[in-house]
This record gives sequence, structure tokens and C-alpha cells, in this order.
Amino acid sequence: MPAVSVADQILAAAAERASALAVPSLDSAPQRKVAVLTCMDTRIDPLAMLDLSVGEAHIIRNAGGLATEDAIRSLAASQRLLGTEEILLIMHERCGMCGASEDAFTALLARDGAAPSWRLGAFDDVQDALARGLAKLRASPELTHRDAIRGLIFDPTTGTLREPHG
Ligand SMILES: [Zn+2]
Repeated sequence: MPAVSVADQILAAAAERASALAVPSLDSAPQRKVAVLTCMDTRIDPLAMLDLSVGEAHIIRNAGGLATEDAIRSLAASQRLLGTEEILLIMHERCGMCGASEDAFTALLARDGAAPSWRLGAFDDVQDALARGLAKLRASPELTHRDAIRGLIFDPTTGTLREPHG
């Protein structure tokens, strides 16, 4: 018997729950007019963390919760096309990007012939990285609403959110 992949399991479970996933009354514009940029970390559940429901916010995720060009692309679409006005940038303690080696990662990629234009985005201090992300977003003319961008750090050990640059 062939092994069942995780995707197979997920698809089977989704088929069982279709009626629970249906949101026929919602459109694509976030009702709370907020976009969240955060890390892809498995310990972060953005909707639960922020007490948000489906339909209320855009959630943009990448490795680290970094203000990359593509994150800014998504935030620009969020604000200019879908009406969001506030941004929460949420990074976290014990992030996989913290302390990672740019050089080792680049060498890994090079071994497979990959030379991407992007960098991993490793950082050594989450608070400094958050400050850099906030500064980048606040200086991005792609965004129309730059006066309500807040930066938070989540601690997966304690479940707390703090705003170091409040
Ligand atoms: Zn992370």
C-alpha cells in the first residue's frame, strides 16, 4: 500500500470540513482594515494570537517576518486595492532566522547551482531586526498608510506580545 502523504491527509480532512470553511458572506477586503506581517514559524497562530477572525485581516508571512520586497508588494496591494490602513509587524523570540548564517546558507544554495538575488535575511538581535523592518515599512512609498505601523515581538515560551519601540 502506498504511503499516504501529508497533502493527502489534509485534502481528505478538508473535504470533510467544507461547510465549516465556507464564508459566502465575506468579500476579500479585510473588515478590520489591518494587515499583519509575521514569521512563518509554526508556533505563531496569527488569528488566535490577535483574536482575529477569518475575513478581518490580511496575514502576510515569510521566514523571519521580514519587510522584503515581496512582503511590501503584498502590503501595497492590501492598502491600495483592499483598503487596509494599519500594519502590525510581528517578529518573535527563538526565530529560526536569528543566528542563522548567511554565508553557510549561500554556500548551500551555490552547491545546487542557485544564486538568488535575495538574501536569507538572518539577524542576530530580534529587537534590532524589528526596528529595521519598521523603518523600512515606514519609508516605503508603495504604502499609502505609514502612520499606523506597529512592531511587536512574540515570545512563544510565555505567549506574551510586547512592543519594544512603542
Ligand atoms: Zn521566525
